[in-house]
Amino acid sequence: MKKTLRVMKFGGTSVGDAACIGRVAQIVRDASREGPVVTVVSAMSGVTNRLIDAAVRAEAGDSDRVEAAFAVLRKQHETALSALIHNQNERNRLAERLDKIFAEGERLCRGTAMLQELTSRTLDSISSLGERLSAPIVASALAELGAPSEAIDATELIVTDSSHGGADPLMDLTRERSHARLGPLLERGTLPVATGFIGATAEGVLTTLGRGGSDYSATILGAALDADEVIIWTDVDGVLTADPRLVPEARTIPEISYREATELAYFGAKVLHPKTLRAVQQAGIPVWIRNSFAPERCGTKITPKGRSNGGGVKALTAIRDVVLITVGGPGIVGVPDVVGRTFSTTAEVHANVLLISQSSSQNDICFIVPASDAKRTVEALRKEFAQDVAHEKVEHITTDPNIAIVAVVGENMRGALGLAGRTFSSLGRENVNVIAIAQGSSESNISFVVAEKDMKSALGAVHKEFGLAAVVSHDAKVTSVLQ
Ligand code: ADP
Ligand code: ASP
Ligand code: MG
Repeated sequence: MKKTLRVMKFGGTSVGDAACIGRVAQIVRDASREGPVVTVVSAMSGVTNRLIDAAVRAEAGDSDRVEAAFAVLRKQHETALSALIHNQNERNRLAERLDKIFAEGERLCRGTAMLQELTSRTLDSISSLGERLSAPIVASALAELGAPSEAIDATELIVTDSSHGGADPLMDLTRERSHARLGPLLERGTLPVATGFIGATAEGVLTTLGRGGSDYSATILGAALDADEVIIWTDVDGVLTADPRLVPEARTIPEISYREATELAYFGAKVLHPKTLRAVQQAGIPVWIRNSFAPERCGTKITPKGRSNGGGVKALTAIRDVVLITVGGPGIVGVPDVVGRTFSTTAEVHANVLLISQSSSQNDICFIVPASDAKRTVEALRKEFAQDVAHEKVEHITTDPNIAIVAVVGENMRGALGLAGRTFSSLGRENVNVIAIAQGSSESNISFVVAEKDMKSALGAVHKEFGLAAVVSHDAKVTSVLQ
C-alpha cells in the first residue's frame, strides 16, 4: 500500500526558539514513522521584520542600525543552535553554514547602502535570509533525534514568475524540480526541510511569495508532490470563529470549506495566507491547521466542501490598515462614466480594491484599498478627475484611514433569510455605526465598514448574535491520518 505523504509547515512562532524547534523536530520525527514527511519552515519569529527593517535602514545609509540588527539576529540563531545541537562536529558545520548566510546578508546591505537604492529584487534576497537560516537549524535538530534530514533552499524546488515580493508558482516546472530533488531523499528515508516563503525564477533569481507566504509554499509543494495532506502548524488550535486576540470567546472550527477559509484569509484572518488554497484547489488535497504547542488537539480540516455547523454563519474576520476612498458629491450625477474611470485608475496603479459600495443615487462611490496602496491611488484619481474637480462636477476625492472592514463568512449563508438583519441589529444594540455595506452575489460573505475604534465591539456583537462561541470545539469523527 502506498504510504501517506504529508507536507508539514511550521510558522515563525512554532520555530521561535530552541524549545519550540525541539518540539517541531519531535512532531516531524513521530509523523515520519508513519510515512514520508516534507517539512517547510518559516523564519524564527520576528526575523523577517528585522531583516526588512535592516534593508530599509541600509538604503537610508544608517549603517549602525544595520550592524545592530545583524548582531541581534546572529545572537538569536546562535543561542538556538547551541541549545539544540550537542554534537561538536555538527555544531561547527552548522555555525559555518549560518555564518555564510549572515555574511551574504551583510554584503547585500552594504551594497544597498552604497547605491542608496533598495530594489525589490535585493529586498527579496535580504528578507529570504530568515528561512535560509531556520531550515538548517531544524534539519540539525532532527538529526539530533536520530532522524536523517537535509535542509533545502526552496529556490531549488519552487519555480516562480518574476513578481518580486509576491511571486506566483509555475506549477509544471515546480512539479518537475520538486520530484527530481525530493524524490530520491524521500526514497532513502531522509527528511527534507525546505525553506518557506521563497522560490526562484526559471533563470535562478530568488523571489518571495509575499509576507506570510510560507503557508503557500507548503500547499505548492503539497500539490507538486501529490501529497495526501498538508498540515500547517501554528500557534492557535486551528481556524477559529474569530481572531482570538480580538474575540476571546472564539472557538475552533472542526471543518471548513476552501472557499470559507479563503474568504476569511482574504479579509484578514492571518492564520492563513490568502493564496494558500489556490495551489491545492484542483487536486482537492485537505489542509489542516494545527497547534504545534498542543499537537494532541485535532485542529481544523479545510476541505473542498467543508461541513455545516448547523447555522449559516461560520466565522468573522476583520481587516485593519485599510483606507476608505470616496469619489463624489452631488455633482457627480451625470458625469459620464465616473465608475468606469475610477476603477480603470485603480487598476492602472495596481491597487488591491477590497470592497466597493455605491449608493443608487450615484452621489458617492466608495471603496477600500490597503493602506500601502492608498497614496498612489488617490494621487492617480486626483489626476484623472482634475478637470471635473475644477468644474465642480466632482466635488471631492477624500480618504478615511481610521476604519476597518468586518466580514461575516459562511457558505450556508446563501439563501438563509434574516442573516443581514440580525447582523445589523446586533451592531445597533452595541451602538456601532455602519459606514458602508457590501454583500457579494455569492452570499457567502457580508462585509461592512466601521470606525476602527468600533471594530472589536462589532466583532463581539456579531459573534454573540450568531452563538459562535457555542460551536462544538471538536468532533471525534474529524481526525487527521496522523491521529
Ligand atoms: P504563523 O507564524 O504560524 O504563520 P500567524 O501569526 O501568521 O502564524 O497566524 C496565526 C495567528 O493568526 C494567530 O495567532 C491568530 O492570532 C491569528 N488569527 C487571526 N484570525 C484568526 C482565526 N480566525 N483563527 C485563528 N487564528 C486567527
Ligand atoms: N517569514 C515570512 C514572513 O514573515 C514568511 C512566513 O512567515 O510565512 O512574512
Ligand atoms: Mg503566517
